[in-house]
Amino acid sequence: MDAHTAPVRGTAGQADPLVVIDHVDKHFGELHVLKDIDTTVARGEVVVVIGPSGSGKSTLCRAINRLETIDSGTITIDGTPLPSEGRELATLRADVGMVFQAFNLFAHKTVLENVTLAPMRVRKLSRKEAEKRGMQLLERVGVADQASKLPAQLSGGQQQRVAIARSLAMNPKVILLDEPTSALDPEMINEVLDVMVGLAKDGMTMVVVTHEMGFARKAADRVIFMADGRIEEEATPEQFFSNPRSPRAKDFLSKIL
Ligand code: ADP
Ligand code: MG
Repeated sequence: MDAHTAPVRGTAGQADPLVVIDHVDKHFGELHVLKDIDTTVARGEVVVVIGPSGSGKSTLCRAINRLETIDSGTITIDGTPLPSEGRELATLRADVGMVFQAFNLFAHKTVLENVTLAPMRVRKLSRKEAEKRGMQLLERVGVADQASKLPAQLSGGQQQRVAIARSLAMNPKVILLDEPTSALDPEMINEVLDVMVGLAKDGMTMVVVTHEMGFARKAADRVIFMADGRIEEEATPEQFFSNPRSPRAKDFLSKIL
């Protein structure tokens, strides 16, 4: 039997599953990028996903948001299996916020418009409601004073905070953040991590792909270590950083810490 099939697990059973990933496989042509991914994110849980480049972290995030199809297995969000298309997909996707490495703001819309567009279109909020809530969210991430500017007039750190506010504006059940600080200048990383730590403290369910081990230690309930398309190890941050058990995780940590 393949020694890789059973990932090392170190967390207790989860009471209130929000994202259930059940034996998911995904190929890009010949390349097997997700191999029997099987894990659950509980409501209110913060999961940090780490692992070498090319290990499938982004593909997993994109699959949870159905930006990628999967070949087999199922992904369920709050009891509803991910549909493949149509209005159901749009509704479900609205429940899953996504923040990418590159800020992906609408370049020709103001900061406030960036956070009000989707709630007006998808959630059918009135402009007034959307703007009120949008300003509250911009306040929360510390960029309310930039509301009428265009994204290009903001620093990278401010833009990424707007991207977080924009995803919160849809009232998602879970937010996926895929290397949200990797494209930032070093002096801007902490302002974004601080916002993320605040969300975690407020009980937001989050899946965060990051190499920021300080964030993982401070905010994560669980670390998932991926390598070669597999979950190699799952553990609390304390367990994972002090005593990684799989050889791949040991090797990875010895290189980044
Ligand atoms: P990570 O985020 O961990 O760096 P990815 O999920 O981006 O890894 O990629 C996993 C593997 O899948 C890599 O080998 C990558 O080159 C490949 N890959 C990602 N997206 C595509 C795609 N659209 N088409 C073909 N191969 C892809
Ligand atoms: Mg990636």
